[in-house]
Amino acid sequence: MRIVILGAPGVGKGTQGDRLAERCGIPKFATGDILREAVRNDTPLGREAKRYMDEGELVPDAVVLDLVRDALGSPSAHGFILDGFPRTVTQAEGLQALLAEHGIELNAVLYLDAPEQELIRRVAGRRVCVACGAVYNVSLDPSAAGEVCEQCGGRLETREDDEAGTVRNRLRVYRESTAPLLQWYANSPTPFYELEAVGSVDDVYRRLLTVVDCS
Ligand code: AMP
Repeated sequence: MRIVILGAPGVGKGTQGDRLAERCGIPKFATGDILREAVRNDTPLGREAKRYMDEGELVPDAVVLDLVRDALGSPSAHGFILDGFPRTVTQAEGLQALLAEHGIELNAVLYLDAPEQELIRRVAGRRVCVACGAVYNVSLDPSAAGEVCEQCGGRLETREDDEAGTVRNRLRVYRESTAPLLQWYANSPTPFYELEAVGSVDDVYRRLLTVVDCS
């Protein structure tokens, strides 16, 4: 299975992508996670990306495409789930070219949709473990409001770019640069599925499995 999950910040791409990746036994690549790790490790990539991420802007296409090429390695060998990539039409074209080099195509593009007010609420409630990266959401699950990670005991923090002003910019960038991809994929031969991403995590996951399931 080669799947792209599209949607605005906070819609649940990471959460749903993790579940699906585990069920399908395939890796999930999230460009945001890869970039945040580069920032934490203060690599040249991280130093370049941080300037954009702090403002809620997109990291340049060429940088992200290189990173995805490295992450995927030989994509023909395994399936994969991409979360947070592509984010522009240029990136989608780059991905298509990369897959074509290996003679393969995407099996599905899943678009998760939720109203903007709900996205803002979810982003405001997101807490991330500084040690292992586990994600919690106090808006969806008030019992996750503890200060330490249930999995590793690490400290839980709000992502810097989840601060309200930056989120407004990320949503604007999404509308301007990423939303045009929906039409682009809808016009492409790749199977394109639009899913309502409201309700509980389980509700959304059930909806997702009605359109794509690897078991
Ligand atoms: P995310 O974790 O997907 O919300 O991404 C966090 C930030 O990383 C974004 O606001 C961008 O600055 C950057 N980023 C992640 N993925 C991409 C991408 N595909 N293209 C450009 N920038 C990205």
